[in-house]
Amino acid sequence: MSISLELEKHYAPLIGGEFRDSAVETFDAVDATTGEHLATITRSGKAEVDAAVAAAKKAFPAWAATRRAERSRLLLRVADWIEDNVERLVAIDAHDIGRTVFELPQDYASAVGQYRYFAAAVMTHDGWSADVPGGWGLVKREPYGVVGQIIPWNVPAIMTAYKLAPALAAGNTVVLKPDENASLSTLELARQLAEIFPPGVVNVVPGYGVEAGAALIAHPDVAKLAFTGSPQVGRLIAHAGAERLVPVSLELGGKSPNIVFPDIDDLDAVIDNVTFAATFCNGQSCLAGTRLFVHDDIYPEFTAKLVAAFESIRIGSPLDPATRLGSLVSAKQGARVLGYLETGKAEANLLTGGGRVEVPGHEHGWFVAPTVFETENRSRIAQEEIFGPVLSLIRWRDFDTMIEQANDIVYGLASGVYTSNLRNAMRTADRLQAGQVWVNSYVALQDGLPFGGYKESGIGSEVGREALDMYTQLKSIVLREQVPPPFYV
Ligand code: NAP
Ligand code: MG
Repeated sequence: MSISLELEKHYAPLIGGEFRDSAVETFDAVDATTGEHLATITRSGKAEVDAAVAAAKKAFPAWAATRRAERSRLLLRVADWIEDNVERLVAIDAHDIGRTVFELPQDYASAVGQYRYFAAAVMTHDGWSADVPGGWGLVKREPYGVVGQIIPWNVPAIMTAYKLAPALAAGNTVVLKPDENASLSTLELARQLAEIFPPGVVNVVPGYGVEAGAALIAHPDVAKLAFTGSPQVGRLIAHAGAERLVPVSLELGGKSPNIVFPDIDDLDAVIDNVTFAATFCNGQSCLAGTRLFVHDDIYPEFTAKLVAAFESIRIGSPLDPATRLGSLVSAKQGARVLGYLETGKAEANLLTGGGRVEVPGHEHGWFVAPTVFETENRSRIAQEEIFGPVLSLIRWRDFDTMIEQANDIVYGLASGVYTSNLRNAMRTADRLQAGQVWVNSYVALQDGLPFGGYKESGIGSEVGREALDMYTQLKSIVLREQVPPPFYV
């Protein structure tokens, strides 16, 4: 290992500005590809969550009253610290979750962008005034209080940034539960957050979803819930929110259509882009462009080149800068993806890949060969989120039928269109049921542009300033100089 990870032997939850270790139970962080033990982590339960929520509740009034400029300054410090420590954070994630050192710097660049964006955006996130007969109407934005946030394992740097930056900027205090498979870089960040923010403003409770997560979503003092992960758990969070009547924002994944018209002018560039769209993050991305619709006229040539591109992806140690595809996060995720590969072999035409790959010295890892199935939109592998480097290739001819199929899915997160014809781009973007449409460039997330899902992909929107709306509630105040007569409106 070239960069020293400088890990602690043990990580405790961050509660009220201190790393408190009351729980006796721990779990292990292990290297995703070698199985090497990296550290032990406190397995937080109800007691830790209760203490964290109490600390966040205590810290809330002062934090909400803190000047925006000061909240903004502290968020900028988080961004600077990440930027100064990016190599080590990248190495930690590469070991912990099996993602490549080639890709991970971009995760951290996105995270830095989010802290800086919300540090700036909150400075102009004002209420407004309205005319009221005989007085003034004022609308204030106020934070909710304690926000409970639960995140998944695929992109820890991005997930913590998407959740913490807007919530803290808006004046809420936070209790964050990272994923048990990807807690290390978040806990390293937590050591800095403890230095930067007043005690209790940010609390981090590592642990299992069914323990720490369940305690957090049921806690009566949590005033808003935010979650990213599977639709199954998303529904549990929504139920918990409904039970206590608190707002819930959800980001629940996708199975996004990526559409290729016959009029593209640079076929090789498009092949590169659609290959990346389906395989970045080792295929473990909610945004992945996993249903590729290719027009009949270019289908044979496109397919041959696509298969060659998938076969040229370099699989190996996530720490090797030349590696483009690392390991899935865990044996559980490996079993899930392999199960889908078997489903695909039974119901579709396998063009390449289709199995696990052994990488010498990394036998613990779950490396999966980049896989292309030629299939129909209604097949299971085309309809269900696999979260591995697996692409469903679908042939199209008629525009309306293709659009119908692209929308014939429960999800609606992202989508891509490749064309050099403006009219094709516009009519496709208009008709796709998805929160983002990327024309001629997949994964074109931009700070400031709202990111959220249509249909079962989620509720609410992150990344843009609308996230500040999501983390604030509105108070209308009417001011009158004199008490009006009864029934005066
Ligand atoms: P998951 O179960 O939804 O996990 C996401 C987060 O929710 C984790 O922090 C998890 O804790 C927590 N959680 C689990 N059960 C909970 C409960 N009862 N109450 C509160 N919190 C709970 O996702 P997964 O099992 O890791 O992945 C399964 C599939 O979900 C993937 O194959 C993929 O299709 C999808 N997924 C989508 C996204 C996305 O970005 N939208 C991200 C990850 C996964 P633990 O630490 O115990 O896991
Ligand atoms: Mg790990």
